[in-house]
Amino acid sequence: MIDTPKPPAQPASKKEKSYAITVKALEKIDQLNLPSSPHFYELWYRYFDADPEITRAINTHQGELDEAACQSFYTRFLSGTANDGAVRKVSDQVTTSIAELVGMLKNAGAATAEYNSSLSGVSDSIGKASSLEDLGGVISGIVQETRKMLTKNHELEEHLASSATKVTELKQYLETVKKEASTDSLTGISNRKAFDRRLQECIEESGDAQAPMTLMMVDIDFFKKFNDTYGHPAGDQILRLVARTLVSNVKGQDMAARYGGEEFAIILPSTPMAAGLRVAEVLRKAVESKEVTNKVSNQTLGSISISIGVAELVPGEDPAMLLERADKALYEAKKTGRNRVCKA
Ligand code: GH3
Ligand code: MG
Ligand code: MG
Repeated sequence: MIDTPKPPAQPASKKEKSYAITVKALEKIDQLNLPSSPHFYELWYRYFDADPEITRAINTHQGELDEAACQSFYTRFLSGTANDGAVRKVSDQVTTSIAELVGMLKNAGAATAEYNSSLSGVSDSIGKASSLEDLGGVISGIVQETRKMLTKNHELEEHLASSATKVTELKQYLETVKKEASTDSLTGISNRKAFDRRLQECIEESGDAQAPMTLMMVDIDFFKKFNDTYGHPAGDQILRLVARTLVSNVKGQDMAARYGGEEFAIILPSTPMAAGLRVAEVLRKAVESKEVTNKVSNQTLGSISISIGVAELVPGEDPAMLLERADKALYEAKKTGRNRVCKA
């Protein structure tokens, strides 16, 4: 059997139709074990091209469609054309079909170099053929090469498809691994590692663009007491709630990350102190306004609050220096009563 490439997507152009007929005719010749001769190619080409007389005769034929039967159909419907004129006609048809076939395979990017070179010069040979025998030889060669090509093409397609699937899977896997490596497993937001990387980048970009940037350190107030009173799982629930609240209240290129324990850090690129303080105040209020309930017992756990230290990057500062100033501001917020924002 000839392995046929997938049918072209519709709507079928004239070329695609002729290609499909060529493939069908070659398949039929192969399936019926007929010799690869131009007679049979022409017969089956016309059959699949829906020549009414030939189609009716073959479809109503009782018995096997062996070589003798096909020969008799050929003699009955097409032998009158078995002269030089017919040679030309068939050869033109074959040349056109083969050229289109090659064109389509080339377009599909699947034609092998071997196939191309074995077909180069084929039009020449067809042009020079002056008898059906000559033409028969040329066509036998083409048919054989085409069969090989179609098989190879099919294998290649399958191979490409499976490689493409593997590559896609691998890509997805890599994405997952990358994401996991930069995500905090408890809260699902960026982790310390991702934060450190981004902070370094932002400081550099800020220096290059001579643009401001602001850093916030956020700490949950009296969290130890909360844990002691309601238990660690309830504490974890608070950490997730605060993480969600922070992430959903910053946007675009901003990054909110879990810095460790019950501390979070937020980077606001292109943001001066005044704007940073406004964002911090929005975050503080958002957390304060949340009613906390125990998911398991449905018990009301009251509310929680956060303290925030805000520092704007001073040109020439490195990450550690900026972090230290933000931390000092946070300490100030704790010292002066908690649930508040302080600037460095
Ligand atoms: P302050 O207002 O001064 O920040 O007081 P605090 O109690 O929040 O601060 P402290 O540093 O004394 O306690 C932090 C607590 O955070 C202690 C620790 O049990 C809790 N904690 C840290 N990481 C986690 C965590 O992953 N899950 C839970 N449930 N608790 C955590
Ligand atoms: Mg702390
Ligand atoms: Mg705390």
